[in-house]
Amino acid sequence: MALAILFSFFVLFSAMLVMTMFERELDRLAKDGLLRHIKSRRSAQGPVFNIEGRRYLNFSSNDYLGLASHPALREAAADAGEKFGFGAGASRLLGGGCSLHERLEEITAAFKETEAALVFNSGYAANTGVIPSLASQSGVIFSDELNHASIIDGCRLSSAEVFIFKHCDMDNLEGLLKKNRGRKKLVVTDSVFSMDGDIAPLPDLFSLCRRYGAVLYIDDAHGTGVLGNGRGALAHFGIAAEPWILQMGTFSKALGSFGAFVAADKNVIDWITNTSRSFMFSTALPAPVIAASIKAIDLLKKSHGLLRKLWANRTMLAGGLRDIGYEERISETPILTIRPGSLEKTLSLSNFLWEKGIYAPAIRPPTVREARVRITVTTVHKESHIRSLIETLKKF
Ligand SMILES: *Cc1c(COP(=O)(O)O)cnc(C)c1O
Repeated sequence: MALAILFSFFVLFSAMLVMTMFERELDRLAKDGLLRHIKSRRSAQGPVFNIEGRRYLNFSSNDYLGLASHPALREAAADAGEKFGFGAGASRLLGGGCSLHERLEEITAAFKETEAALVFNSGYAANTGVIPSLASQSGVIFSDELNHASIIDGCRLSSAEVFIFKHCDMDNLEGLLKKNRGRKKLVVTDSVFSMDGDIAPLPDLFSLCRRYGAVLYIDDAHGTGVLGNGRGALAHFGIAAEPWILQMGTFSKALGSFGAFVAADKNVIDWITNTSRSFMFSTALPAPVIAASIKAIDLLKKSHGLLRKLWANRTMLAGGLRDIGYEERISETPILTIRPGSLEKTLSLSNFLWEKGIYAPAIRPPTVREARVRITVTTVHKESHIRSLIETLKKF
């Protein structure tokens, strides 16, 4: 009996220790200005939205073309729900997918000018599934130091040796490629770096990979629907899809839907279908989500105005930032950043904007090394929204 009581006390005590440990760690994060909070919308995604009961101008979303709440996508999703229901019920290999999944893959392959494509449940799932499928134990991966976290995790999950090359530094990459002659090589890069907005030097990466016999894997999450008339970064540079190039992209950003794809040669896609664990062991996306992605590509192909307006807005915002003394350092895309120099100043700028009803979040370590306010501009921002952001920034 006494022993039992003693044991319960011990269990209780251990539980308390664990709890205070989390509390301490959270306090530390808060003190360092690194504690994050989930912000929930009370309205649809768009240039103006409602968070926790207040109206904000929204400069935070990756919904570059404003398709996330587009009536045509809502309608396509509703129709698909009517026909196929909502849940998919199983993985693709077990009959979870429907004819819409196949259709989306055909359309995506045609759009990317590849033989085939495979739909993944998210960009995160694609990178953590495909990279290990491509890079086996005997292989080596070369990954840009600023690649997206999902690429980093994909590299970690693979059993290959990983070399990190300096950001967009082709000399550094070539040196590493030279040292690894005779091995199976995979070079991985973001096309548009998500937190900086700069574009990877794809023509140089293309020549290096061809010269050294490496497979090139491009994460086009922020290029798809934005660059190259919406066809992505390869199209932007006029590079044709080669059998040794894989283009990954998402339906969740410019295309306003959800999920991701990998487009490549048929053999490569078949290999991934048979080996990629995040594909094999996860339930297929619901039909309404797939229908929305199909509709988004359809709109993108038909409505050139969507892209024209995106780039016009981007030019206006970049010009406005320059006019008030924010040097536009690197970005060539709708992702623009302001880097006040310290974490405190970045947080204080972001909080100032928040108080004035503008949402442009502070991006901080460990997401990035140098804290910044990340501003994304979209097709559906009005000129008055952009002017309002610039006027408010001037007052800071
Ligand atoms: C957003 C993003 C992903 C992840 O895509 P999700 O569909 O949101 O999971 C992958 N890579 C890059 C570069 C991204 O920006």
